[in-house]
Amino acid sequence: MNQAEGLHARPFSNIYVEEVVKDASETLRILEKFPRAHVIYIGHYKDVFNRKHQNFTAQKQAPALILAKKEGTLVYKGAPVCQSFGHEHFYYTSCVMNCLFDCEYCYLQGMYPSGNVVLFVNLEETFAQVDALLEQHPVYLCVSYDTDLMALETVTGFVRRWYDFAAARPSLTIEVRTKSGNFALFEHLKPLGNMVFAWTLSPDVIVQRYEHHTASLDARIRNIRQASKLGFKVRVCIDPIIYVPDFWRLYKELVQQVFEEPVTIMDASVGVFRVSNDYMKRMRRLRPECALVHFPFVTENGVYHYGRELSRKMVAFVKDCLREYISEDKIFIWDGDEI
Ligand code: SF4
Repeated sequence: MNQAEGLHARPFSNIYVEEVVKDASETLRILEKFPRAHVIYIGHYKDVFNRKHQNFTAQKQAPALILAKKEGTLVYKGAPVCQSFGHEHFYYTSCVMNCLFDCEYCYLQGMYPSGNVVLFVNLEETFAQVDALLEQHPVYLCVSYDTDLMALETVTGFVRRWYDFAAARPSLTIEVRTKSGNFALFEHLKPLGNMVFAWTLSPDVIVQRYEHHTASLDARIRNIRQASKLGFKVRVCIDPIIYVPDFWRLYKELVQQVFEEPVTIMDASVGVFRVSNDYMKRMRRLRPECALVHFPFVTENGVYHYGRELSRKMVAFVKDCLREYISEDKIFIWDGDEI
């Protein structure tokens, strides 16, 4: 059993449920999966999630689950620091807030006051907002932002629901991005032309040192190969690139490892680590020992990054490594010029 599977097997021992969704079929279905959980009914998820003085680090080790209803705008325009892969109408949605994994460089720890996981059970309202956009134009939608949906699939079934939704809407393209080793879902799906599965990859030393509870690099590459063999649209994301000792050798070997056996990759993204000023301040407070977040970054327009020169060099290097295996027009980059 890999780390991620072990994590899936661990139940949420405390589950908070908003009164407004306590009888929703999705809530009841999820609660059935955790018969021994302590269930606490609450007025609003923010009463728990936004409490002051929470211990984010402790919560990440044993997060509570919060079942809630999301209101207002549920689908957002993609941010400039994110990769649009050439799509004109780029959006993202967050049906889950927070992640079972614990990457030391994750922006979520700067963004959220809590390490607990909020799951919005009213997914059909997000579907309705996507349909409204589709009436205006095609939509490229990232559904695994602010979480890792594949890691939670055994609890939520949301990737499957997005798959069914996309299957009936050819002008919608969905991306599901993951560091999970969960492959069970693929055995029940047929490839869809408008659903992209993206694996984020880092050299193994970074996975082991900084990406706690995620699947090993070997497991991710194995899944990429298997998904590609089955005909799924596969994306490789070497993003964020992290500047570590022996960077050049590690990233060259990473790319070689991906392609050492035949694999069909739809495209790849390459981007340097970057995070907003506000998030970084909190990340540094939470991780006083983490060399990665305490790097002497450059700040520009509210974003911490490695500086344009180093960023360009790192991205160009990884791109060159990839060009040995896939054509340049399939490699999308983020090297700081976008700030
Ligand atoms: S997998 Fe992604 S969302 Fe989850 S902790 Fe790591 S960086 Fe954050």
